[in-house]
Amino acid sequence: MAILALFVGHWVLEGFFQSSFHHRYASHRMFTMSRRAERMFHFFTYLAQGSSYLSPRAYAILHREHHAYSDTARDPHAPGFFSNVLAMMWATSERYSAHVVGTSSPEARFLGGYPEWPALDRLGSSWMSRVAWGTAYGLLYLWLATAWWQFLLLPIHWLMGPVHGAIVNWCGHRYGYRNFQTADASRNSLPFDILTLGELFQNNHHHAAGRPDFASRRFEWDPTHTVLRLLARAGVIRWRADVPAVAAAA
Ligand SMILES: [Zn+2]
Ligand SMILES: [Zn+2]
Repeated sequence: MAILALFVGHWVLEGFFQSSFHHRYASHRMFTMSRRAERMFHFFTYLAQGSSYLSPRAYAILHREHHAYSDTARDPHAPGFFSNVLAMMWATSERYSAHVVGTSSPEARFLGGYPEWPALDRLGSSWMSRVAWGTAYGLLYLWLATAWWQFLLLPIHWLMGPVHGAIVNWCGHRYGYRNFQTADASRNSLPFDILTLGELFQNNHHHAAGRPDFASRRFEWDPTHTVLRLLARAGVIRWRADVPAVAAAA
């Protein structure tokens, strides 16, 4: 039971920070916040992602490429171009890593407007940090596990960020229903996206990439947007009236 709570807690926290900070804030600039709030958000994202920390800058560049070239050969993770999800994850991680270390040459329009904290990016992306977090998860499991099979969940903790990304990028462009005719293959995989907290409304999102609420029909629910609305009401974030086009330079 404790393991299940640990797993669900980590899953939900990681999903929320990846969806709100990496996707909606860093990549799409849907809202603004003070410098101090941004740093706190960034640090909490590091804590939530732990061993699988993703640089918001590299994520944003990769994600803007995805929107600009969705489901074409230039999309960094179009499922139609891969025979299985692991091959797609591998190619995505190579492109992402090139953005982190600076060996890629992204188009200028994909750059800028994302939170940058080089020291935290360096720490979070270091093997020392990744192994330390991974060891901490393992020790928690040694302490709390009550059956051997529970250890099968450990690799998901280690790769939590990429696992969320793979579910969204694979299923969200392959399985589900469409509300809008878009030029890409985006789908809405779940009407209540409690699995990835709103990210699986890919069809709605690709139709209107600047819209903060990924749900669009009455029966759909985007949990991350609900939390962000509360943060906006509390004054932590402010919605932008004019969300910039996703691929525009800052
Ligand atoms: Zn997409
Ligand atoms: Zn997006």
